[in-house]
Amino acid sequence: MPQRRDSAMRPKRLVVLGGGRSSRAGAVWLVGAGPGDPELLTIKALKALQGAEVVVHDGLVTTEVLALAPQTARRISVAKRKSRHSFSQDEINRMLVAFAREGLRVVRLKGGDPFIFGRGGEELQACREAGVECHAIPGVTAALAAGAGAGGPLTHRGSAQAVTFVTGHAAKGGEPDLDWESLARPNQTVVVYMGLSMAAPIAARLMAAGRAGSTPALIVENASRPDERRIVTTLAGLAKAAAALSGPALLIVGEAMALAEELIPAHPRESGDPSGASNELSMDSRLRGNERP
Ligand code: SAH
Repeated sequence: MPQRRDSAMRPKRLVVLGGGRSSRAGAVWLVGAGPGDPELLTIKALKALQGAEVVVHDGLVTTEVLALAPQTARRISVAKRKSRHSFSQDEINRMLVAFAREGLRVVRLKGGDPFIFGRGGEELQACREAGVECHAIPGVTAALAAGAGAGGPLTHRGSAQAVTFVTGHAAKGGEPDLDWESLARPNQTVVVYMGLSMAAPIAARLMAAGRAGSTPALIVENASRPDERRIVTTLAGLAKAAAALSGPALLIVGEAMALAEELIPAHPRESGDPSGASNELSMDSRLRGNERP
């Protein structure tokens, strides 16, 4: 497919920050790479990626998504590593600004959505302060892919009037400092990002604040990826179920998770393309009321 870099990289309706620079100036695109399945990228994200000269990506971005950038694009991993030096957020911010100032089209590719627990806001601020043009392109955040894959609606008439995304990660280590009273109220879904290792204290806090131990819960590891795993459990069983997984994973607690299933296939490509003729035929016959058992 020919690359139409200019039109791809200068979408009309994106907010331009620190604008007024010449058309030759570089810029930064904070791009949501989605949860892993490349088919869950937005078209806008794909176009930005195809026009990138530098791709700065984190560890949650899958190789399939990275492969969509031009071969000539420089790829820089800023994934957190236990054994080697990891880039600090400050170093990443300075790197983005420096590349843009060199006149390059920089894609900062982040798992899920850049503004959901992704520190995209800090990168945007750094670009703003440096007077560097910066655009944000949303991505499918992990919670949406996890709910969809499991058939567990995050909101549901009658049993989930609200959904709240929280982080299980505490800035100073230890337990997250969350508003347990409010999260313990029934008829709402709580999605915990980065909460796998803290599943036991999180579940204990929710129950101590009054959320019933029988509340349905779902854990999804590697949502939308070929190695996706799901465990349907309850709030009381959350800690034990979490212990079997190593992440990245989400904890989802709420009455509507009663609909979630462990075994339904996560990937339409495997379960049958929804645009396939067989599906259309069966739907057609159902609509005509002559569906056979
Ligand atoms: N910006 C990302 C979240 C980054 S925080 C987004 O919008 O999805 C990292 C956490 O996100 C992980 O610890 C995990 O809790 C969750 N996560 C990211 N990708 C995931 C996936 N494919 N499956 C399950 N959880 C995922």
